[in-house]
Amino acid sequence: MSFFGTGNSENIDKKKYESLTLSIRQTVLERSHHRCQKCSVKFRGSNGPFFEHINGSLKDNRPSNLRSLCDKCFEHVKKKESRKGFLGGMRNNLGQMFGN
Ligand SMILES: [Zn+2]
Repeated sequence: MSFFGTGNSENIDKKKYESLTLSIRQTVLERSHHRCQKCSVKFRGSNGPFFEHINGSLKDNRPSNLRSLCDKCFEHVKKKESRKGFLGGMRNNLGQMFGN
């Protein structure tokens, strides 16, 4: 579990950004103009958005640590994300909900 142990003095921030809330999603989406930050495709409901955690920590949901991706680009990231954290399975379910 050492990858969670890169502790610093941002405990308050960490609590605040522990889960990916709607307002965080909106912040990231507005910043990316509702486009995939890898291939620039515009999100249309069925192809995203999905959110990549840049530093690999699923509990770090600061907008600066998030990237909005379409389903195709997230496909590559998803494997990484579900390996790194035990929330991976849950996140996949969320993705499926989005797809419906
Ligand atoms: Zn894409």
